[in-house]
Amino acid sequence: MLPSSASLSGSLGGLRRLRENFGRYFGGKIGGKIGRNFGDKIGKVAVNFLLPPLCPNCQTPVVDAPGFCHTCFSKLRFTKKPFCGACSFPFEGYVKHRSLCFACQARPPAFDRAFAPLLYDEASSGPILALKHADQTQHVPLFARLTMSRAPSLYRDVDLVVPVPIHPRRLRRRLYNQAAELARFVARKWALPMGLDVLERRRYTPPLGALSPRRRLLVLRRIFSCQRSARVEGKRVLLIDDVMTSGLTAEFCARSLKTAGAKEVSVLVVARVPLARPKLSRAI
Ligand SMILES: [Zn+2]
Ligand SMILES: [Zn+2]
Repeated sequence: MLPSSASLSGSLGGLRRLRENFGRYFGGKIGGKIGRNFGDKIGKVAVNFLLPPLCPNCQTPVVDAPGFCHTCFSKLRFTKKPFCGACSFPFEGYVKHRSLCFACQARPPAFDRAFAPLLYDEASSGPILALKHADQTQHVPLFARLTMSRAPSLYRDVDLVVPVPIHPRRLRRRLYNQAAELARFVARKWALPMGLDVLERRRYTPPLGALSPRRRLLVLRRIFSCQRSARVEGKRVLLIDDVMTSGLTAEFCARSLKTAGAKEVSVLVVARVPLARPKLSRAI
């Protein structure tokens, strides 16, 4: 994939990808003679020495393995129980297992469950936004692994991995969809089929991050459609995105998938904004 701009972050992204490709090439060359796995390991050690991986937050070299440096890692806030059994909204204090938050009790979401390893805050937002907007796709494996670790046996309960789509106009500008990149990694690691074109975003919208939940609701209604009903009918779908803010994107994607016949929809995101889902009236 080509860097989207000549910015410094883009250049670093290109350098990191070069690092990965070089590792694969180097590992493959030696692997042919003395065993591919061993060759891959030597390739990785050599590449880590020449081009050490960088912390996705502060860009300091990380010596042992790709990941956050110790300082940035210690600032991350991981979601922990108790949280809502449907939308994973974090609760304070003691709550019974599988309890639902007020919004989910009032009207359960269209998706069946949601998982997010991180809380979206000052410490996690920088690297996630860089993954989204600054061509930092070399951190996809790190975030995907982190996300999978939140629900390590989920692969047994899903049949198809589907990313939240972005509009083609945005894709042309950004050159990649971070949700699709995460989904591709998850599907490969869990040996699940990937439904890249299952969902479509029919209308171009401005970035939704700054909108109020009500405005977001109005924008997101009827924006997603399922293009491949035959692929999702009777299937347990795993919907992947980077961040869950109000849960409305996941809600409307899940509705499209369920209308197309999906049996279940689970949602897996890197981080969750600790906000309650907006209450949805029966009419919406
Ligand atoms: Zn750091
Ligand atoms: Zn909930």
